[in-house]
Amino acid sequence: MPEIREFMKQFYILDDWVRQFLIVGEEEALLIDTGVEESHVAEAVRQITSLPVRVVLTHGDHDHAGGLGAFGSCLVHPEDADMLPPEIRWQPLREGDTLECGGYRFEVLHIPGHTPGSIALLDREHGLLLPGDSIQKEGTIYMFGPRRNLERYLESLRELQPLEGEIRQILPSHGECPIEPAYLSRVLEDALALRDGKLSGEPHPTLPCRICMGKWTGFLAE
Ligand SMILES: [Zn+2]
Repeated sequence: MPEIREFMKQFYILDDWVRQFLIVGEEEALLIDTGVEESHVAEAVRQITSLPVRVVLTHGDHDHAGGLGAFGSCLVHPEDADMLPPEIRWQPLREGDTLECGGYRFEVLHIPGHTPGSIALLDREHGLLLPGDSIQKEGTIYMFGPRRNLERYLESLRELQPLEGEIRQILPSHGECPIEPAYLSRVLEDALALRDGKLSGEPHPTLPCRICMGKWTGFLAE
């Protein structure tokens, strides 16, 4: 079960090797990502609130969508809906949509690349950006395999750059959290180096990819 900490008022972080976020409102709670099935995120949520839970996915990878079975439905960007188990009911979440809960107001930013339907959630008033897997400090950002697209990822990272002066904290799904806004340009710098073949990569011990470490973060790449 993930470790629970209250990060801000009514805003909880559920921390395992992958992270979930729970915002508790007056009439419902908003859960961002569901972890892997074995993490029993639904049980952790029930320790915090008994309110109905609306689930939002940052993207469809199994370590974010694996706990969906306990909730039955979610909001997800349509480009990742085909990654979900068929029994899960889903509603589309698109660029420009907003989600309000517990005094927080998140704008949906579509940031394809890590997966086609990856999103980030931006709360301008609190200066928070939840980027899913797309921004990590010293991470291994998965960029190999059929659903990854480095050019789309670079485009998404470029679109996030103007936020660097506006936000105060980035809350990634893996690794250190929170991290400073400078990681928006740092991850772009490393991703450009990856594209340009400047990151030497060690073969991964078990996966068919290379581990390419940049100055600030790392990638699993072809
Ligand atoms: Zn992940």
